[in-house]
Amino acid sequence: MIRIRGLGKQFKGRQVLRDINLDIQEGQVVSIIGPSGAGKSTLLRCINLLEVPSEGEMAVDGKPVHYKTNAKGKLTILSHIRLSWLRTDVGMVFQQFHLWPDKTVLDNITEGPRIVQKVPKLVAEARARGLLEKVGLADKMNEYPTSLSGGQQQRVAIARALAMQPKVILFDEPTSALDPELVHEVLEIMVQLAGEGMTMVVVTHEMNFARNVSDRVLFMEEGRITRDGRPDELFGQPSPRMAQFLRSLNPITEPRGVSVHENRYQSV
Ligand code: ADP
Ligand code: MG
Repeated sequence: MIRIRGLGKQFKGRQVLRDINLDIQEGQVVSIIGPSGAGKSTLLRCINLLEVPSEGEMAVDGKPVHYKTNAKGKLTILSHIRLSWLRTDVGMVFQQFHLWPDKTVLDNITEGPRIVQKVPKLVAEARARGLLEKVGLADKMNEYPTSLSGGQQQRVAIARALAMQPKVILFDEPTSALDPELVHEVLEIMVQLAGEGMTMVVVTHEMNFARNVSDRVLFMEEGRITRDGRPDELFGQPSPRMAQFLRSLNPITEPRGVSVHENRYQSV
């Protein structure tokens, strides 16, 4: 579904991604973990060209993503039509939800399909209602985002991503901005999506999600992927740097190997 070769990214001459090589298969759930500043968000943002890579090749669903920039770093080769195809295939869910505050929940979800995919209004609305039911928010259809809790807003953002019927969804720390008691309601939706076979790439600090839900975990540090494997392999034998990272996430409980959210996802 995603193929990346030799991807690099510099910001003002500073190298923040180096030689990223990655193949993600259809239906795979891949968690990306690692310290702040490692380049996790930049990698996700490069995949759908929210950031333009400095070098390297990418393909999504077998289609090469051609990009080229001018001296100012603006995209020049990929046309807007191609870009909207890419953004249709590759959904994104952000830490800060990024819902449109002046649109109702329903309009937030129908906007993309109607504008980008030219889906008729009634069809888009029927699709949105189905998705709101799926995320447990059918009764919030006509509300505005500000009247919802963070967990509800993030569930709307997931419904909005799904409305485009993407081939893969990228999640950038989808639960990091939430009050702890709201984290589970978003994770439950993600677990459900994973079970349905959605291809997902998830930057997360929720180690129980990484450990129990994903098929594969990547550890990033200093712009590189330094570990890549099954969760049991990585968590069973972390590199010294990864062990240090895991301890830093949960300094009080980690020595016993138990984290505060442990019991929530034991069943998955
Ligand atoms: P992570 O998500 O792993 O915390 P990021 O991908 O956000 O890391 O950032 C990687 C590095 O790139 C950081 O040092 C960050 O400061 C830098 N960076 C990210 N975005 C920009 C930007 N738009 N301009 C300049 N530097 C950036
Ligand atoms: Mg980040």
